Amino acid sequence: MKRACQLSAVAILFTSSMQLQAAPCLQVTLTGTQGGPPVFNGQAGSGTLVQYGDDESNCSAVNLQFDTGRGTTQQLSKAKSPVGKLQAIFLTHMHSDHTEGLADMMQLRWHFGSGGPKVDLVCSADAESPAGHVLSCQKLAKHVGDAFIESGEMAQRLAENKKRLPGGPADLINVVAFQPSAESTQVWASGDVVVTAIGSRHIPGHASYRVDTPAGSVVIGGDAGNDKPKPPRDTSTSAQVEKLAMGADIVVHSTIHPVMGPDQNSGFPPPIYFRQSTATDLGAMAKRTGSKHLMLTHLIPPLGAKNQGPYPIPGGALTEASYTDAVVAGGFEGNVIVGTDLVSLRLPAQ
Ligand SMILES: [Zn+2]
Repeated sequence: MKRACQLSAVAILFTSSMQLQAAPCLQVTLTGTQGGPPVFNGQAGSGTLVQYGDDESNCSAVNLQFDTGRGTTQQLSKAKSPVGKLQAIFLTHMHSDHTEGLADMMQLRWHFGSGGPKVDLVCSADAESPAGHVLSCQKLAKHVGDAFIESGEMAQRLAENKKRLPGGPADLINVVAFQPSAESTQVWASGDVVVTAIGSRHIPGHASYRVDTPAGSVVIGGDAGNDKPKPPRDTSTSAQVEKLAMGADIVVHSTIHPVMGPDQNSGFPPPIYFRQSTATDLGAMAKRTGSKHLMLTHLIPPLGAKNQGPYPIPGGALTEASYTDAVVAGGFEGNVIVGTDLVSLRLPAQ
């Protein structure tokens, strides 16, 4: 009897420590916070790493990268989540500040990981613009190694190691193309992790994503803006992103500060200003969606910059407070994170 009691006490202890170790967690890291094609102060290009797991796996059983701006490979290395560990890459749209790191990432993976596994590249199906050209993630993937192939480097490396895939890095990509629509649809899943997407306006084929896990949920808005390309309109934010973000714990979103608006005389082109979401309108949206955390990324202008590309910032460089104040003016009372490269948020908090 005594022995049975001891055994059950051990069993209870074992079970509770297993539960502790198995506590699920979600970690969101901004791999790059630069807004648009310029580079300021060495900031990496746009990207967000979303990781899910438990304490035992240090929250990294599932590793998903959303957008792959300049320098993503280095940033993933700093975040201790190497390119080779990514199960899937999601692209919001075909702008180079969100895609130009992909060739670097896939070349590295081809070099050392030609044996696989492939990485899923989840993105919009081909989208035709009103001007007649086509935005094509499929072609981006197919031609991702072309410069290295054309230079002769790939033939050289294949001659040295025949185990590498003959078609170059494109052979390691599994494109998962979907048709973005005004309703959210599931585009990827692995175990408890489900990713949904919705179509949103910026350029044709732009999509926003939501990741749901047992530890929490995060929305990656990308560069979404309102379907109405300019005022008069209720808000600069996207109604589709708002729908996607309802009840989400974390919203990560590209941000433009109202100081770049046409009324402030920076000279910044109004159509480009109007196709982004302002910090104030994002604050109002995050309040309506009931989100606890708003992570601003892709900041236009960057913190501390006197110019956005060629355009001077009216009133001088912005601070973290300039962005937080703009969000609070929109009514948001939750946690505001003004993005800097590699800032990270973990749920539940440690
Ligand atoms: Zn962008």
